[in-house]
Amino acid sequence: MPKVYIETMGCQMNKSDTERMLGMLSHLGYDETKEPKEADLLMVNTCSIRQLSEDKAFSLIGTWGKWKKENRPHIKIGFCGCVAQQKAENTFKRAHYVDFVLGTHKIYSLPEIIKRINNGERVCECTETNATEDEKAKDFEINRVKSVNAWIPITEGCNNFCTYCIVPYTRGRERSRAPELIIKEAKDALSQGFKEITLLGQNVDSYGKDFKDKNYRLADLLRELNSIEGKFRIRFVTSYPTDITDSLIETAKELDKVCEYFHIPMQSGNSEVLKKMNRRYDRETYGKIVAKVRKMVPDVTITSDFIAGFPGETEEQFQDTLSAIDEFELDYSNTAAYSPREKTIAAKWTDKYIPEDIKTERLARLNDKVKENCLKSNKKYIGRELEVLIEGFENHKGKNIITGRTRNNKIVHIPSDTDRTGEFLNVKITGCKTWYLNGELVDNNINL
Ligand code: SF4
Repeated sequence: MPKVYIETMGCQMNKSDTERMLGMLSHLGYDETKEPKEADLLMVNTCSIRQLSEDKAFSLIGTWGKWKKENRPHIKIGFCGCVAQQKAENTFKRAHYVDFVLGTHKIYSLPEIIKRINNGERVCECTETNATEDEKAKDFEINRVKSVNAWIPITEGCNNFCTYCIVPYTRGRERSRAPELIIKEAKDALSQGFKEITLLGQNVDSYGKDFKDKNYRLADLLRELNSIEGKFRIRFVTSYPTDITDSLIETAKELDKVCEYFHIPMQSGNSEVLKKMNRRYDRETYGKIVAKVRKMVPDVTITSDFIAGFPGETEEQFQDTLSAIDEFELDYSNTAAYSPREKTIAAKWTDKYIPEDIKTERLARLNDKVKENCLKSNKKYIGRELEVLIEGFENHKGKNIITGRTRNNKIVHIPSDTDRTGEFLNVKITGCKTWYLNGELVDNNINL
């Protein structure tokens, strides 16, 4: 059987695309291998959010190109994902050994592409399309990574055009997937033993805005998913702050399977910078949204994303980001130094670029602030009893532990000599570190 190796970079959306591609390839008789040297087909699913990631992808295919030239002429090399969508045919100029380039809009052309490259063709499939690929996707099973959580994309693309972001150029305009396909995917995953469904999209809370034939939004989808029988959890990421409606918050609060967790990227704590980023809210509006979610959903965890060193950002404006994390009591935040991306508006403001050393220093202070708040947030749970879905069994610093997540997405470490992966367990929180809670089992009967 031929073997395929896929290196996946970047976000969950890419990981989900990889699972779909592996599903298609298994229909063609390919077996997945984790060892690139064993593979007949080598693919990289690229991410274009930061230059570093793009450089890594080219360096990786460079290595594979050498293998092909030196002693493995039969291997085929595929360049896929967001960078592929952007570079298209130009990829061949930079990496002549690549057999196919596959953009984010055309992943369901993969079986056809494989046939063509095996006939000696070189293929580039990157044409932008605003249609969802659901119809074609129906024929393929998804080859999910073994885990307790199944990622299910519900929207693709984005219409927001934040001035720093490449996503609208690589993933296209926003398209919502049909509810019946999402529900079918969820049922399939649950029947395979998955215990958690995470709905995925650049802006999940604008799900359904583009439906012409029905008034059906994220809250409706959550209700339908919640009514599927059995014990499991539902999450959704990422929320655009001003698209979070009262009805969505109420639904999230009311439905028993929907977890108390919102990921609401703020990006900067300063209103002027937010305007330059083309975000559709200011500091005050963001604060009101977070306060509303906290008031309506008890015990909710709210996480965010921030960029340090956006072009023109002053030290004072950066200080507003640090103070926002405190003021809005953000439980955890992903952080990054600004990285200019070709085609985006902010990348053209070269005279406003912040020097690398200042960006690095701001990012370090931002990370310290995130750590401080994460620890503060974790301390609130000491002494409480929480339901934990166990995700793994490992040896941590010489002790056997099981690890899992609470409904509000806190990681918990629990001593155990038995693997309890996939079980819902009651855990008493006994302490915490910056990134996780420590707990002990109090009652194991939640599954019954
Ligand atoms: S909302 Fe902004 S940051 Fe998020 S994907 Fe869309 S353009 Fe990018």
